[in-house]
Amino acid sequence: ERKPFITGNWKLNPNTKGEAIALAEDIASSVTSDSPGDVALFVPYPFIETVQNICGDKITVGAEMCTPEMKGAFTGGISPAMLASIGCKWVLAGHSERRTINKETDEYINAQCLKVIENDMSVMLCIGETLGEYEQNLAGPICELQLKKGLAGVSKEDMSSVAIAYEPVWAIGTGKVATPEIAQDVHEQIRATLKNMYGEDIGDSTKILYGGSVSPDSVDGLMAKPDIDGTLVGGASLSGESFGRIINFQA
Ligand code: 13P
Repeated sequence: ERKPFITGNWKLNPNTKGEAIALAEDIASSVTSDSPGDVALFVPYPFIETVQNICGDKITVGAEMCTPEMKGAFTGGISPAMLASIGCKWVLAGHSERRTINKETDEYINAQCLKVIENDMSVMLCIGETLGEYEQNLAGPICELQLKKGLAGVSKEDMSSVAIAYEPVWAIGTGKVATPEIAQDVHEQIRATLKNMYGEDIGDSTKILYGGSVSPDSVDGLMAKPDIDGTLVGGASLSGESFGRIINFQA
């Protein structure tokens, strides 16, 4: 019942609009009526409308973050209302790079989630433990804490506009993909937390995506697991060939 959701996060790539156009065209050509899931791309702000025009209804286009402030003296800010007004459908919140490099707190991430939903878009809340936390067996508790703080004030009804991305920090950009077994184990705990917070139905219907060094080689094994509903792909979404293979994973 949870349709697979294959998503890419371009991060601070590519360098030019020309390259973004070429990449988007390449990726869009891989999406066919036989592709097993829905596809979304989170792209840098300057490319959102261009990529939307190329992808049409094949691929949903989202932003990589937003500022929860809605207007005024916030130089550099991009509000959810601005994004909604250009047809943006999804926004990432709480990516580990934003948490670490930009010092985004759980409270700030929570405000982003609430404002994105309020502006009729969907939010993908990213959570995940560091290597040290993983080694201390804290993946489940850390994810539970980040879920509770990130989703504070998000109602049961709002949960139809929420997806969760589990991205263990130790797997992001390292080539060390979590094994399907490790990922499934944490996804199961995340789903249990969601059930605890919102009840059985919401826990069952909320999509939980895995991210962290997903590649054409690892996608099939991950997607075979019952609680892994999709992927959030960084590096491998920067090549039409790799991401095309991931989009058309073998179920
Ligand atoms: P990589 O796929 O490059 O490890 O990045 C994962 C990620 O952070 C996606 O948001």
